[in-house]
Order: sequence, then C-alpha cells, then structure tokens
Amino acid sequence: DASRDTSTTLAAPLAVRNGVPLVAQPRLLGDLLARSATRFPDRPAVDFMGRITTWGALAADVDRAAAALQALGVVKGTRVALCLPNTPYYPVLFYATLKAGGIVVNVNPLYVERELTHLIEDSGAEIIATCDIADIQARVLKVAGETGIRHVISCPIADVLPGLKKFGYKLVKRKEIGRAPASARHLYYAAFMAKGGTPRPVAVDPHEVAVLQYTGGTTGVPKAAMLSHANIVANTDAMLVHCGGEVPDQDRVLGVLPLFHVFALTNVLTFSTLVAAGMILLPRFELKQLLATLKRTRPTYFPAVPTIYNALANLPAGQRPDLSAIKVCISGGAPLPVEVRHAFEANTGAKLVEGYGLSEASPIITCNPFEGVNKEGSAGLPFPGTTIEIRDREDPTRIVPAGEKGEICARGPQIMAGYWHKPAETAAAFADGALRTGDVGYLDADGYLFIVDRIKDMILCGGYNVYPRVIEEALYEHPAVVEAVVIGVADAHRGQAPKAFVVLNPPGAATPTELRDFLRDKISKIELPREVEIRDTLPKTLIGKLSKKELVEEELAKAAR
Ligand code: AMP
Repeated sequence: DASRDTSTTLAAPLAVRNGVPLVAQPRLLGDLLARSATRFPDRPAVDFMGRITTWGALAADVDRAAAALQALGVVKGTRVALCLPNTPYYPVLFYATLKAGGIVVNVNPLYVERELTHLIEDSGAEIIATCDIADIQARVLKVAGETGIRHVISCPIADVLPGLKKFGYKLVKRKEIGRAPASARHLYYAAFMAKGGTPRPVAVDPHEVAVLQYTGGTTGVPKAAMLSHANIVANTDAMLVHCGGEVPDQDRVLGVLPLFHVFALTNVLTFSTLVAAGMILLPRFELKQLLATLKRTRPTYFPAVPTIYNALANLPAGQRPDLSAIKVCISGGAPLPVEVRHAFEANTGAKLVEGYGLSEASPIITCNPFEGVNKEGSAGLPFPGTTIEIRDREDPTRIVPAGEKGEICARGPQIMAGYWHKPAETAAAFADGALRTGDVGYLDADGYLFIVDRIKDMILCGGYNVYPRVIEEALYEHPAVVEAVVIGVADAHRGQAPKAFVVLNPPGAATPTELRDFLRDKISKIELPREVEIRDTLPKTLIGKLSKKELVEEELAKAAR
C-alpha cells in the first residue's frame, strides 16, 4: 500500500491522491522534456508573442543544439552561461546544455561588466549565449574577450519577435560583428545550429549539478547555489502535488518573469515541461504588452512578483484584464502586502496566493493552499516534501516552539547541496543540515509561516529590532499608497531610524505629514518613520522586486556630504 510507505528516501511518494502515489523520483530535467515531447508532440510548448513552438519541435531543436554544443567542445560538466531575456532561444539552450552534459549558468542580462566578469570567472563558464540587443551584446563581447569564454552564441531577437519595434530595442547590425573584439569566436544562432546533428549520449546522475544560480544569499557575497536535476525536479513535482496532483490539461503558464530567475525557472520553464502546458513568454515586464498578452492567450496559471500584481490591481476599472481563465496567480520573491492581495482579487476576480522561497531551495519552501485557507499575511504551509524549522537566532541548534520568532530553516529534496566552490559559505548556510534562509519568522499553531523580515534588512533602532515589513504593511493600508519601501538611515540618537519612500496614486493625494499621521495609530512610536519621502517611481530589480539597495546607497551618500 503506497499510502503507508513511510520511507524518507527521495523516491518516496510526495503525496497520494485517490490511492495513486504521486511518485517524486529523482530524475533528469531532460526526462521531463522527453516525456512531454513523446506524449504531446503537437501541443504548444512556447508561445512567444504569438509565435508557437510545439513540444515535438522544441525537443528536436534541443537535440540539434546539444550536438552543436558538443561540436563546440561541451563535455560533461562544462559550464554554459545563458545571458538572455525570455525568448524561444532560452528553453532550447537550457535543455540543450543539460543534454550535452553541461551545467547551465543563469545570468541576468542587466549585470554590469564587473558583475558579469565575476560570474564568468567564478563559474568557469566557457560558452556564453546572448542576444543581439546592442548593449547586452556589447557587454558580453567585452567581458568574453577578457575571460575564459571560448565561444559566444548570439541569438537574433528580430528573427523571433514580430513587432519588435514596440519594445524599442536597439539591435546590433550583423555587419558590425566583424569589428567586435571576440569576433573569431562569435557565432550567430543559425551558424551554431548548423553544427548540430544527433548529440552523443552523456551519462548524468540526477544528483549532479544542473544549474548554477547566482544569489547574494544572506551574506551578500555573490555566489552560486548548486541546483541539481533532482533538486529542480523535486520542486516541480511538489508544485504539481500542490496543484492537487492533476495534470492540468492544456494549461497555459504565463512567463512574464525572466527565466534566468529561479522563480520562473521552476514555476514557468520546468513546470510547463512537466505537465506539457504551453509557456507564454514575454521578453520583459511592460504593462501594455502584458495586458495584450493576457487578452490574447488567456493563461490559466500566472506566477509573478507583488509589483506586477500591484500594477494590475491599480488599473482603472475600464482597463482591468479579464482573468477569468486563471486558476491561480502565485506571488513570490518578495512579501505580498495584504492590501495588494485584496485589491488584486477584488479588481480582477482572480485568486492570488502567496508562496515563499529562495535560490538555494530551487526555490519554493512554503505556499498558501490553492484551495483552502489563505491566512492574512502568511507565506503559507510547508511545500510538499518540505520541513520548516524555526531556529533560535542566537543558538541555531535550538528549534523554537510555534509562535516564537527565529530564523526560518528548511529541509527537503529541493534544497541545494551547497554553494559552488565556497565551502565556508556552504557550512554557514546550514544548521544541523537544515538550510538557513536568513529570513525571520514564526509558525502559527496551524503550521502557517509568517515572515517578519530578512535578518540583514532589520533596522536596529535604539536597541529595538524594527522590521521594515511592519511599517510597509501599514503604509499600504493608506488608499493612495501604491508602493512603499522602508529602510534604515543613520540617526544621531538611535543609531538607525526608519525612513519610508512611497509612490502615490493619484500623485499628490497625501503629504508626508499626513502619511506620518496616518501611521500613528497603526505602528509603535519607535517604528514611526523619521521621514516619509514621496517619489514618482521606486527602484526595482530586473525581476520587479522593489529594491532597497539604491535607496540605502543614496542615503549613505547624502549622510557623507
Ligand atoms: P532570491 O534567492 O534572490 O530569490 O531571494 C530570496 C529571498 O526573497 C528570500 O530569502 C526572502 O527574503 C525573499 N522572499 C521571497 N519570497 C518572499 C515572500 N513571500 N515574503 C517575504 N520575503 C520573500
């Protein structure tokens, strides 16, 4: 009886539904692709601005590209960097790298030269795939010429993106390539694919590294989480279990998040592959394009970050998208303010649930149920197969009881084995074998996780721990506040004091004094921002999370003057 299987090996079923065990075998990512391509060769795999690739065609392209990579010298363990926005090239090169025996190094195309150089040197990538968007390609070629990169593969955006002009990309003219410093090793995609044929089979164990996912982690030192095939497959399987275990027939997954980010890696790319759903890719988040795509494709599954839901929730009544085909929107990557969730659900009618994860966990470790209780402000219940432990911050060997705050730690088949070539950082990332997230939170009596804040994000104010999240939540309760960020600034009396930055809609709807007054009965005196600054926009990371880094730097520079 499978339901009584209590073994704790990874091969144990994650869940049993209607007597059928949902077996989560550690397997290769390529196995997911092979299965969908064999069973549903004619179903759409990728819809890129209306241009469709089927699962059968994707698998055929993957074979050809894998052989081409082998022709360029890729052998088992070769690192291949993907520095690409979402385009049909990404899934091909991702699965091809793995099929050729290589390791995917995910690269944010907006990295500046210094970051790019570090990442290539640290990972030891020998091949980098990029696109012909002028500034991205220029940076990649420059860095490639100065590092150990042997080949640059350039994927022409114009070949796959009708209506390219709308995006305002400045592209490299092909004839200019001859003048680029790395020209000898520079190949256009078509020339690259022409080298392909049938790839040589390479024996890979599911527990070997598939992806190097760069992150600052808790220490801020850039490093790569080593995610194995088994790690990523486990999180993908767990999402299917979380969905109720049914293969969502003919589902369409919206991929507005960049695939190089861990959230989209599992929630868009590998999840679509597991269930043979179509992934609808957008080259970047741009509200008008997103609305047009929602209308055209009617996705059923829509993972995104809070800022994207916030933008949709704040549209005037006439412009709101029809989300009636959506089964679930899943928010992750950053805290979802309760007010944003309410506004989004009220204004669009779609269901929005919050999940929580991090690069080191491929990424999800908790999620609110799709059916059932979503507690206000909670990051949800442990994901299938995952154990959450709250550990004492001073003494991480001690697990604290429900209701008590501490560092959120996690165990499960999706957790990385460690950081690439960083034994000290790896050792520091685990407590008794559980991953330390660097986030502070508590479990309630029903096992729901509440995240209070990131450890490094905490403001130490006159000896008190002030959590920016608490103040941000209170600000979002104001009807005119559409974005809010709180950081710690230097304070002569208290060491640090909170300062808030907000975006208002309509602009000018409140003054800083009114906003501070509004907060007075909602938060403690110590939490009251010393200053509230109103801005037209706030800095965001490429994936769309509100970013505190720039604001912190601005304030530091101001203080130094
Ligand atoms: P990254 O590894 O770069 O994706 O960042 C992971 C971090 O994002 C986590 O450690 C959290 O600090 C934060 N994060 C992700 N999801 C949530 C959430 N639902 N609520 C609060 N913080 C989150």
